[in-house]
Amino acid sequence: MKVVKFGGSSLADGEAFSKAVHIIEDDPERWVVVTSAPGKRSSGDRKVTDLLIEYANKVIDQQPVSSTVDAIFNRYQQIGDYFHLPAANLAPIREALVNLPHGNYPDDDYLMAAFKAHGERLNAQLMAKVLNHLGMPARFVDPSEAGIIVSGTPNNATVSPITYKNLSRLQVSDDERLVFPGFFGFTPTNHIATFSRGGSDITGAILAKGLGARIYENFTDVDAIFSANPRIVDHPRAIHRMTYREMRELSYAGFSVFHDEALIPAIEGQIPVNVKNTNNPTAPGTMIVPESDFHVNHIVTGVASAKHFSALYLHKYLMNKQSGFTFSILQILAKYGVSYEHMPSGIDDITIIFDRDKLTDAVIDEICNEIQYEIDPDRLEWIDDYAIIMVVGEGMVHRVGTMERIANAVARGGMSLTMVNQGASQISIMVGTRRADADKAVACIYNEFFDQEGAD
Ligand code: ASP
Repeated sequence: MKVVKFGGSSLADGEAFSKAVHIIEDDPERWVVVTSAPGKRSSGDRKVTDLLIEYANKVIDQQPVSSTVDAIFNRYQQIGDYFHLPAANLAPIREALVNLPHGNYPDDDYLMAAFKAHGERLNAQLMAKVLNHLGMPARFVDPSEAGIIVSGTPNNATVSPITYKNLSRLQVSDDERLVFPGFFGFTPTNHIATFSRGGSDITGAILAKGLGARIYENFTDVDAIFSANPRIVDHPRAIHRMTYREMRELSYAGFSVFHDEALIPAIEGQIPVNVKNTNNPTAPGTMIVPESDFHVNHIVTGVASAKHFSALYLHKYLMNKQSGFTFSILQILAKYGVSYEHMPSGIDDITIIFDRDKLTDAVIDEICNEIQYEIDPDRLEWIDDYAIIMVVGEGMVHRVGTMERIANAVARGGMSLTMVNQGASQISIMVGTRRADADKAVACIYNEFFDQEGAD
């Protein structure tokens, strides 16, 4: 059995929906279907999830909502009309949308989560109706019925282990496909909570593990995952096969085709993930597999850059001899609920790298003040202009000189590195640059490894 998940662009309108329907129909193994909310139909368009966020904010701010409700409903109606679905099939979708403000929400964060989740919930209901209408028996399964239980915050939830027990007990019959909405689950007190943005991938992986799928097919709008961002490198090479941990490191640093948190259930269940293109479904796509199924034939698999980092540089003479130095810093971070990303250190200095998107200016000021006061470093510098580049490849483990090649490639491009960190897994090297240099550095590193290596 395969779990097959369609992203927002693959379900954006009637035409896209019909491609997805053909993909489901084409393979009798594609038994479990996971939907995203309708995504953008063109570059200027808006995702239904973003419209639902607007709707929620208007409700919170007590503003008129009818234009937003109409805009959301029109998206579903256009899809229904494409398949000539009887109007009675669409009425419950409008009703659910109109009734959203009357739900029982403990606070505005829960309200926001419930509104957002309806992008996928209504789309999965619509998909089940379309499949049935076309003569393919299908049943919508709500996460409440399946027992997808989550914990954490309402808009950034994580799956609870009990979910897998619940899924193993789910009643499935051989004569109907199951259509699940992605992106959300229920808290133990029965409120909707969503995963982070793009989180329908996570639902697909949870179902693949929980229902024991042979493979998890993730349909999106590109032929494969590429070894570098096509906006930075012209026609980068497609990655045909990569390991879970390569994907995890690359998606951490900006490869957004597959959600990094979605890998965890896939890894736990050892389910291969196949990223494929809805518009070209016969192309092989990218297979993401366990290390045991991977044959190394190149050094570098991908180069990624992320510009949303900042760093705190601390210098203190004889830091290496002072016990509890790092501990005191971590205590201050914990006090402000701040997590750090990386912490490369030297003898007398340490750089703490943060995800800038998770910090406000006020929190940064407070942390810096407190560290200055409590730790009394000789030098404290907040570096906002920080980017990270990840060079990732299973082939790096047994090769010498990879770091030298990276550093030389960047130097030949006339740029300097602000940090170097080799991951403990030895399959990645992380380097820091100024934000303005990041794209050029990626291109230089890509050319170094991919131009000279020949075909993989
Ligand atoms: N619809 C949600 C979002 O836009 C989740 C997803 O598409 O995976 O973030």
